[in-house]
Amino acid sequence: MTETILETQELKKYFPVRSPLLKRTIGWIRALDGVSFAIQRGEIFGLVGESGCGKSTLGKTLLGIYQPTQGKVIFKGQLISDLPKKAARKLRREIQYVYQDPGASLDPWWTTERLLREPLVIHTDLSRQEMDERIRRMIHAVGLEEEHLSRYPHEFSGGQQRRLALARILTLNPDLIIFDEPTSGLDVSVQATILKLFKDLKEAFHLTYLFISHDLSVIRMMCHRVAVMYLGVIVEMGPTEAVFAQPKHPYTKALLAAIPVPRVTPEQEEIVLEGEPPSPEHLPSGCRFRLRCPYAEEDPCSLREPPLEESDSGHYVACHLQEKVE
Ligand code: SF4
Repeated sequence: MTETILETQELKKYFPVRSPLLKRTIGWIRALDGVSFAIQRGEIFGLVGESGCGKSTLGKTLLGIYQPTQGKVIFKGQLISDLPKKAARKLRREIQYVYQDPGASLDPWWTTERLLREPLVIHTDLSRQEMDERIRRMIHAVGLEEEHLSRYPHEFSGGQQRRLALARILTLNPDLIIFDEPTSGLDVSVQATILKLFKDLKEAFHLTYLFISHDLSVIRMMCHRVAVMYLGVIVEMGPTEAVFAQPKHPYTKALLAAIPVPRVTPEQEEIVLEGEPPSPEHLPSGCRFRLRCPYAEEDPCSLREPPLEESDSGHYVACHLQEKVE
């Protein structure tokens, strides 16, 4: 039986645009504009889109770094977006975040041993011996050696820093880990071993992952389901293989067509993405993809925003003209 571990309902995050002269809010950046999805326990759920589409804002809003403007975040059946700060902080310990550059989140003056012990001291009441045991277990689990415990973060390679960041997170027994561009800056050969490590750890520690990436090949390799984001909304969502084999939204088609050869879907019609996405402060009327969409029609595309609707079983698309696009 599946269990929903995390759910968002119409989640919104707007950032104010302030005038330095008038010292007041003159507009809003709609970084998240009504995002709804659910992640099942044990699943790897991918979130993909160009930079600026809102995927990192979503990760940080789930973690409580940003307060939602509107909407709900439900974790293990509890509404965490409205909880008092202390209670939310306690619950969120079970959600951990791996940053794009994990080296930057590690104190350069601390040894590995201290870096791994600190979360245990703050968040648990384990004895010293139990902490030692857990630290040893985690360092081995991520493929590092006990001799690494006396080293400083700058003495590690990029791949090893990711292992260290993971070990630090795992000491707290999280349920859900959010990875933000987890392989950026890594050599391709290192990427493959790190991705395999993620998969192994997921099985060993019964974890659930939210995988945020602009790299479609990583998403395809790792994720059971994927959501495609464009300017703060999900435009397509479904089982990864279905979305890659039969993309239904013009934006998804364009993203897939941009993957370097060999092509993922050779028979697929190619759409070339032209221009930049409009500013999330000045969204076009109707469908927010319409200024770049080769299928756009004045009516209905400029008149109404398309809702995300189920097209095939478990495969959702936000497009008024699905039949024409297919
Ligand atoms: Fe393109 Fe219209 Fe579909 Fe938007 S609703 S993706 S503009 S066809």
